[in-house]
Amino acid sequence: MPRRKGKPMLRVERVAKTFENGLAALQPVSFHVGQGEIVGLLGTSGSGKSTLLRIIGGLHHASAGQVLVGRLPVRAPRLEIGLVFQEPRLMPWLTVEENVRFGLYRLSKDEQAALAREALNKVGLLHFAAVYPRQLSGGMAQRVAIARALVTRPSLLLLDEPFSALDAFTRLQLQEHLLKTWEYDRPTMLFVTHDIEEALALSDRVVVLRGHPGRVDSDFALDDLTRPRKRTDAGFQAWKARILDRLDLSLDI
Ligand code: ADP
Ligand code: MG
Repeated sequence: MPRRKGKPMLRVERVAKTFENGLAALQPVSFHVGQGEIVGLLGTSGSGKSTLLRIIGGLHHASAGQVLVGRLPVRAPRLEIGLVFQEPRLMPWLTVEENVRFGLYRLSKDEQAALAREALNKVGLLHFAAVYPRQLSGGMAQRVAIARALVTRPSLLLLDEPFSALDAFTRLQLQEHLLKTWEYDRPTMLFVTHDIEEALALSDRVVVLRGHPGRVDSDFALDDLTRPRKRTDAGFQAWKARILDRLDLSLDI
């Protein structure tokens, strides 16, 4: 790394959102993400990050514009788009393996088990297949959620503040772990965060959303940051200062 950028696989084209209650959450937003690229979507609270991610995942409809994944417009959730939220949202009455294979009900039991075990192996939790969610730590539960998103082998993985409910150490561990997991299939990855260091540690590119309603303020390629990244490096810290400058941290909204 730095890696060569693939052809665009996600196209966000002038996507805007006004909710039914009249609240405008997004001004027209446009950006492209290349095949296998890792993009961090960074912004202050309320800048429309979750709204945008949910539109890309097909969970919300855009009021204007369109999202293309591959060549097809996204109008509803798709198997090739994996989603991970801030909370793991596991079903407590099912084992880890049953949670991971839940979305595979159309396949035979053998196929379900094979895919679930493969996904659990990628997140390092194969040994926990038979346990129940209450027996897991917060970090492990979130890894199960990642396995569940990966089980359909998505070409696009969307994550909405996946680690922000975890303690600082676990968060650092899972950031590293996510990169290792990504290495298996190298899906295109778009993740939302409000943590500048998380964005810098993981991303090839950082897109900054800003304002109410949100719009793309800047789009930074981190080509000069080699991997593995060290947060104490001068280059990393310089990016942190630069992005901090771009975020709207005033409270007079
Ligand atoms: P972020 O994830 O960046 O914190 P959100 O996308 O959650 O921001 O929210 C952007 C704006 O849209 C906020 O003002 C929020 O209150 C509003 N919003 C989010 N979801 C809804 C909804 N379902 N109905 C109405 N307003 C919403
Ligand atoms: Mg959010």
